[in-house]
Amino acid sequence: MFDDNLQLRERARFFKLSINRYQMEKPIVLIDGKLTEGRSGETLEIIDPSTGETMGELIRGQKEDIDAAVKAANKAFEGEWGKLTALEKGRIIADLGRLILKNTDQLTSIESQDVGKPLSQARNDVIACARYCEFYAGSVDKFHGQTIPYQNGFTVLTLREPHGVTAHIIPWNYPLQIIGRSVIGSLAAGNTVVIKPGEDASLSTLFFGKLCLEAGFPRGTVNIVTGYGEEAGAALASHPGINHLSFTGSSRVGTLVQKAAADNTIPVTLELGGKSPQLVFEDADLERALPFIVNAAIQNAGQTCSAGSRVLIHNPVYEDLVGFLVRKIDALTVGPALEDHALGPLISQKQLTRVKNLLNQASNLQILAKGKLSPNCPKGGFYTLPLLLGNVPPDHCMAQEEIFGPVLSIIRFNSEEEAVRIANNSKYGLVASVWTKDGARQFRVAKKLKAGQVFINNYGAGGGVELPFGGVKGSGYGREKGMEALYGFSSLKTIAINHG
Ligand code: NAD
Repeated sequence: MFDDNLQLRERARFFKLSINRYQMEKPIVLIDGKLTEGRSGETLEIIDPSTGETMGELIRGQKEDIDAAVKAANKAFEGEWGKLTALEKGRIIADLGRLILKNTDQLTSIESQDVGKPLSQARNDVIACARYCEFYAGSVDKFHGQTIPYQNGFTVLTLREPHGVTAHIIPWNYPLQIIGRSVIGSLAAGNTVVIKPGEDASLSTLFFGKLCLEAGFPRGTVNIVTGYGEEAGAALASHPGINHLSFTGSSRVGTLVQKAAADNTIPVTLELGGKSPQLVFEDADLERALPFIVNAAIQNAGQTCSAGSRVLIHNPVYEDLVGFLVRKIDALTVGPALEDHALGPLISQKQLTRVKNLLNQASNLQILAKGKLSPNCPKGGFYTLPLLLGNVPPDHCMAQEEIFGPVLSIIRFNSEEEAVRIANNSKYGLVASVWTKDGARQFRVAKKLKAGQVFINNYGAGGGVELPFGGVKGSGYGREKGMEALYGFSSLKTIAINHG
């Protein structure tokens, strides 16, 4: 939590009024450089997760809106955006980053209320989104092809070319961070974009759209259509006018969108779920590890794809670490987003019911610790306590299923081989962490873990704009973040010149 917390809370209350008014009076989408009311005139409700009350409306986008957005994106790609030099594109992206930072308070307040995210966590997301702009603004004129030595008389070169129109289907849990890593990377590679945010949290995306207009992106470069997944989302994923699809969300929908993309033979980047392990060995610095371990599991109330929700503990330090964890988890408080507790509510009643149903299957397990509810939690909010579950069998659903709630499952192991076996016994493979001072073990274990990112003596998937991110196995494929993302958002053309 940051120092000017109180001041930020006061400012947040002010903004609460303004976003409600703004959204309720006029729900919008962004198509072809215009904030418009959508084709169908239908809307859907915005629910405040902290209170369960309606706080506004969104446009319930339909196929016609998606058609118009894709058409506008294509026109911008063939036209104004496509004609800008790399330097000019980079400057607009840099301006967007500056505008995001200038609007940090308002974006923080919007993201916090809409997602139910504690204020300081929402603020981190805003700053990360701006940081993506800084990183990718500087990348546009440094990402290029190569020359290849070939037969005498030939010069062969490769060009990195944008795909054209890229589609971005975004979940509700980290809207600004995921837009940062996926949309900004794609723009930097030279594409134009159509964004379909999660229906449970679209407000910061719309605000982002307004800032894109202010930053000077040519009309049609960035388009946003809100609405339900089965309507606007499905229409976008199957649209014949898109040239690449970046999807972040559940495995179930990931399968659907892959099939839709296959019908149009377009490349896909899939960022799906996880059940990420944190391996703590007997020689680990437990005090240093403790805040990382807890934060990795409870951040955003556990609604994080890279949540470190399985903690594997070496037998000799099992009791010590569990003792630390119990004290830490017991001290956590859950409360309304704008009060900035360690945890806010879950996103929706649907998500709360889902977590409760999964927890019903854990009634045979021992609850070692649970946080407490702030007395200020409104009755209608979607609150659940953080839980620490002890001695979870590695095959139990609490060790296998992505809960997407603040539940930390502890598993005991006796040897390095056993730890690696348990860690890899998962349908997912997104992130892992290894806590040990033994340098040889750090490399040995990191190389054996089946995950897209491995952190040694830290856990930082949420940050690290520079670090390529993505999964193996059921966690998806393709990489976003870092320079690596630019490869996925572009295609390679080889030109072979025979000059005799
Ligand atoms: P979801 O799959 O239900 O929804 C994600 C997005 O897909 C939303 O915008 C939704 O409207 C859209 N959608 C839903 N049905 C669709 C359809 N038939 N066609 C096209 N689009 C459709 O997921 P969620 O509940 O919003 O998010 C939670 C899931 O996302 C978790 O499994 C989590 O692990 C995963 N996630 C992964 C990452 C990552 O980077 N790997 C990041 C965040 C969330």
